Amino acid sequence: MYKSLFIDLLRKNIKDMLTQNLGYPRIGGQRQLKKASEQYWAGKIDLNELNSVAHKIKEDNWQTQLDAGIDLIPCNDFSFYDQMLDMSMLLGVIPQRYLPISAVKTNSEIDLYFAMARGYQKDGLDITAMEMTKWLDTNYHYIVPEFRAKQTFSLSSEKVFNEYNMAKQLLGKKAKPVLVGPVSYLLLGKEKEEGFERIDLIKELVPVYIEIINRLKQEGATWIQLDEPCLALDLSKTTKEAFELAYCAIANRVSGVKLLVATYFEALLDNAQLAVSLPVSALHVDLVRAPEQLEEVLALIPDYLQLSVGVVDGRNVWKNDYEKSLQLINKAVEKLGSNRIIITPSCSLIHSPIDLDLETTIDPEIKNWMAFAKQKLNEVAELKQIAEGNQQLLLSNKEAIASRRSSRKAHKQVIKDRVAAITEEYATRESAFPVRQQLHRERFNLPAFPTTTIGSFPQTDDVRRLRARHKKGELTLEQYEKAIEQATIDAIRWQEEIGIDVLVHGEFERNDMVEYFGEQLDGFLFTKNGWVQSYGSRCVKPPVIYGDVSRPADITVRWSKFAAAQTDKPMKGMLTGPVTMLQWSFVRDDQPREATTNQIALAIRDEVVALEQAGIGIIQIDEAAIREGLPLRKAKRPHYLDWAVKAFRITAGGVEDKTQIHTHMCYSEFNDIIKHIAAMDADVITIETSRSQMELLLAFAHFEYPNEIGPGVYDIHSPRVPGVDEMVSLLAKAADLLPAQNLWVNPDCGLKTRKWPETKAALKNMVAAARQARELI
Ligand code: GLN
Ligand code: ZN
Repeated sequence: MYKSLFIDLLRKNIKDMLTQNLGYPRIGGQRQLKKASEQYWAGKIDLNELNSVAHKIKEDNWQTQLDAGIDLIPCNDFSFYDQMLDMSMLLGVIPQRYLPISAVKTNSEIDLYFAMARGYQKDGLDITAMEMTKWLDTNYHYIVPEFRAKQTFSLSSEKVFNEYNMAKQLLGKKAKPVLVGPVSYLLLGKEKEEGFERIDLIKELVPVYIEIINRLKQEGATWIQLDEPCLALDLSKTTKEAFELAYCAIANRVSGVKLLVATYFEALLDNAQLAVSLPVSALHVDLVRAPEQLEEVLALIPDYLQLSVGVVDGRNVWKNDYEKSLQLINKAVEKLGSNRIIITPSCSLIHSPIDLDLETTIDPEIKNWMAFAKQKLNEVAELKQIAEGNQQLLLSNKEAIASRRSSRKAHKQVIKDRVAAITEEYATRESAFPVRQQLHRERFNLPAFPTTTIGSFPQTDDVRRLRARHKKGELTLEQYEKAIEQATIDAIRWQEEIGIDVLVHGEFERNDMVEYFGEQLDGFLFTKNGWVQSYGSRCVKPPVIYGDVSRPADITVRWSKFAAAQTDKPMKGMLTGPVTMLQWSFVRDDQPREATTNQIALAIRDEVVALEQAGIGIIQIDEAAIREGLPLRKAKRPHYLDWAVKAFRITAGGVEDKTQIHTHMCYSEFNDIIKHIAAMDADVITIETSRSQMELLLAFAHFEYPNEIGPGVYDIHSPRVPGVDEMVSLLAKAADLLPAQNLWVNPDCGLKTRKWPETKAALKNMVAAARQARELI
């Protein structure tokens, strides 16, 4: 009954075609927020100064969106750290351990907030931070809400109201507060106690949402956006029911304000019926990731629901293809009428860099194919004008799209031909692992529990300064390389001294494991200011893959050869794998990800072969991001894993049996993908396991993983130096699970973020631990 009354009301309230935005980057065009928050944490500026930086960013963002002609402009999309943490503050989901922080007199709400994000070590307190994890399939990390069995919720922060009131001054009715919706908020959190399921907390949670929404309405809000990205995931029956329950309860207790439910990053698929039946005013769908879902949504959509069509890619850097978007918009208009359509980016723009106009060094031909957040707003506005008949705008867009499609800079037939010619043989080593293992044993003659490290050694300020000075022209190439050579020699001497078995050169010549390779491959470009928030104050500047990728010259051979010449011990070559390069870059949207990955794979394969020819017998190909590339929907995973694994095998498939191929993966769970990890057929895999106390090894044990493996014996994320006994006991645990003769001894990951003193102390202990383990077995 309530639902039908509500729906009558909705029908009367629909106006003309609208445009909207779902979220705008909040770090500031010059990364002002990063700088200000870090200064605040260091006690260099006070809360007033921090607030005034935030204030300015918000106002600038709103003005930019207003100027672009956007009708519904988000507020409360700003965050000092993370929007999920904002929700936890708003809903009063504050873990017990933070209570003492509010008791410190000088602390304000924001100090509690930052303590939850970053931990708190002062005033005699030592409280750990909340867990952080990736926001669905993006590289943005959110702070994971912690739930207890008797979790209560209460309206506990004024931020959303303050921000709405501030936005209202400038934007009037256009101001649209954004919240994470109740179901996704629960699903993306974690139970911190046994004996309950977080989704069952929905009944306790919804009343607080009702209170928030009603209060926003009283303050004048006409639209409210509720992000429910989980509607695009595989959902259990209980979760589907939670969606119905939550939104019906809200509809029953709220009127006079329009609710928009936003989904993104995947198609609704089997949740489409559920999504269109939620009693709200509008539904947002991502038609960049999943254009094919439009058909089904249009077939199911009830006649009161407005549809927000996400046609401008919020996750990438390319100019919108207006013709393609128009086809989608027109299809929707035909079915629903223009007054029920809202033109929108596919998702929040926090995942794209801010302003292409700030880029002064990108080749103009290529720059003309690109769009960052600010430009994307214009695209949304222009698409509306074109849908209403402006042909001129369409024509100039067509030219840019055609230029990209036919550009010789992007398309190289030889590379495409080479990818087309890839055979199964390309992706297969000459002999099976046992044969190779025997050859490696004879060739390298390593002890049991051989020790190695993951590649990088501390990137000290001195090393970074060398690079900066060389960039500025203060050091010649020769001077720079001499200094890097010295750092490399020092690291090698030191590894020999403490008795590491397989050495690394230390990666001192590299700025970053993807950038270093991208810079030397054709088809990549780098921005000056294309920063994207990764978490909190941390921003990344991903490379852009704009064209067919190839390797014009050797990349690492010079340094590996130099390093190998300094020692009689085996020197491991160090490369970044194709999936990781893809995953941590902005990629082309004019061909499947798989095709781009194969091009990179061939380039890295050539480098592997070149290293082998230069006499490097052990080569590591890092694939830190294989797991993270996993599609959100289970049904799509097998296909992804097939091509991702094959790409790795292509990189490793060009060498002779005598060469030992390593791979390294961190931050990964292996349970559901172990079969595919094994199919990579690396001779040795090193993984991060110490923080889980070897728990991650269980997947390998159950699978009876046949190849060699180095489970990390110490956590490199903190300066703490692990004791010998601690590492021996981890090794013993590992030897219980897997054949001891297949085990290697190494840290969890590279050591570039560490300082030398703790690195030296920890590695000495690690070598001692390996020696003890050898005696025990
Ligand atoms: N070889 C790289 C390093 O040691 C690997 C880094 C990573 O896995 N994230 O730095
Ligand atoms: Zn790692």
